Amino acid sequence: MIKVMKFGGTSMGSVDALERTSSIIGREKAKTVVVVSAMSGVTNYLIERMREHPEVPPVLEHLRDKYSSAAAKMMSEERFTEYLAELDASLSSLGERLETRRSSGPDPVLEDAIFCWGERLSTITLASILREKGVPAVALSSEEAGIVAEGSPTNGSADLAATHANLSRTIVPLLDKGITPVITGYYGADSSGRPVTFGRGGSDYSGSVIANGIDASCYEVWTDVNGFMTADPRVVPEARTIDEMDYSEAAELAYFGAKVLHPRTVEPVRRKSIPLMVKNTFNPDGRGTLVRNQRCNSPEILRSVAAKGELSIIKIYSSEIVYNPGLISRLIGSVSEAAVNTYAISTSLSTLAVALPTPAIPCVLDKLKALHEGQIEKMTVKDNVSLICCVGDNMINTFGVAAKVFSTVSASGANVEMISEGASDVALNFMVPSEIAADVIRCIHRTFIGG
Ligand code: ASP
Ligand code: MG
Repeated sequence: MIKVMKFGGTSMGSVDALERTSSIIGREKAKTVVVVSAMSGVTNYLIERMREHPEVPPVLEHLRDKYSSAAAKMMSEERFTEYLAELDASLSSLGERLETRRSSGPDPVLEDAIFCWGERLSTITLASILREKGVPAVALSSEEAGIVAEGSPTNGSADLAATHANLSRTIVPLLDKGITPVITGYYGADSSGRPVTFGRGGSDYSGSVIANGIDASCYEVWTDVNGFMTADPRVVPEARTIDEMDYSEAAELAYFGAKVLHPRTVEPVRRKSIPLMVKNTFNPDGRGTLVRNQRCNSPEILRSVAAKGELSIIKIYSSEIVYNPGLISRLIGSVSEAAVNTYAISTSLSTLAVALPTPAIPCVLDKLKALHEGQIEKMTVKDNVSLICCVGDNMINTFGVAAKVFSTVSASGANVEMISEGASDVALNFMVPSEIAADVIRCIHRTFIGG
C-alpha cells in the first residue's frame, strides 16, 4: 500500500500544527509520500513583495525567522544546525532570484519561480522534523521529483504521462528503501526546467498528480476543516460534513464554490480510481470525506449547495445568433482569448449569455468589441451575481427536482438570472443577485438537506 498525504499551509503554520502533522505522518504504516504547501501566509507574502521593489535581505530574514523559529523548538541543537545550513542554502538561491528581479524588473516567469519558494522551505523544514522523530524523510523539489508542468506562469497543468515516467525512477525506489519523500506542492517544471505554478491552492492538485504518477492506493488531503460540507457553515450553521461522495460531485463543488480543494484536484486521481480522503489535521480522528467512484449510491437527492460570488453576466444581443452558425463560436472564441474561466453559457434565439468572473469583464468586452461583428446589436453587463451550485448524484435523474429547487428559490424572494441545467449529471447551477445568495443557500439547505 502506498499513500500520498498532502499537508496545507495551516498544517505547517505553527509548532502545534507541525507537531500534529509530523505525528500523523509518523504513525502511518503504509509507504508514504508527503506533499507540502508553504507555511500559511508565505505565498501571499511573496506575491505582495513582487508588487513592490523590495530590498532583498529583509525578505530573506522574514522567511528565515518564520520557518526556523518553529523548527528550533522541535529538534536537537545538532540537527537544528544541520537544518539551518540547508535552509540558508535555499534562501541564498532565492536571494539571487530576488536580486535579478530587482535589477531587471517584472518578469512573470521569474516571479512564478519565486512564488513557490515557500514550498521549498516547507519540505526542508518538515523533512528535518520528521528525521528528528525517527522517520527517514528526504526533502525533494518538484524538479528533483520530476513533476512536469506545461502552460503559462501561475496557470500550469501537469503532464501526467511524463510525470508518471519520472516518478517511477525518482520516488518509487525511495519508497522501496523505506524512505519517506517530502515533495514541494504548488508547481512543476516545464520542458526548459522552469517552475510553473498550478494556481493558488495548487498543492492539492500536486498531490493528486503524484498519487496518479506512483499509482498510489489512496490520496489524503490534510487541511483545517473536517471535509466537504453540505454548505458553507458560515452561511448555514447547521451544515454537516459529508461522509462520502462521488468524484464528479467533489469536482463540481470544488470548482463552483466549496473552498476545500483546488478545483483540478479530482481529475488525476479519478483517472486511476484512487480514493481521495479529505481529513482535518486538527481533528485527525474525525471521519473526513471520502471521495471515490460511487455514482447513484446516495439516498439523498441533493448532497451539498455552494455559491461562487464575484461573477457578472455578459449578454450579447444579435438577431443573427441562431441563423449564423459561426457567430456563437466566434463570440465564445473571443471570450476565451481573455483567458478566463467561463462559469455558465446560455443561448436563446437572439442572445448569448455568459457568466464570468467580474474582474475579467473589461478585458472580455474589449475582445468582443474587437470582433467588429456588424451583427452584434448590443451588449449588457449585469454585475453582483452569484452562481449557486446544487450537487447530488441522483438529482438530475429524479423527477421534479428542478421544479422543487426553483420554487424554493422563488420562496426566498430571489430572481433567477440564468440557469445551467442538464449539462452536468450531478449538478444544477443557476445565478442569483449576490445580495440574496446566502438566503437562497439557507432555503435550499433547509428544504433538501435539513438541520
Ligand atoms: N502555497 C500555495 C498557495 O498559497 C499553494 C497551496 O497552498 O496549495 O496558494
Ligand atoms: Mg488549500
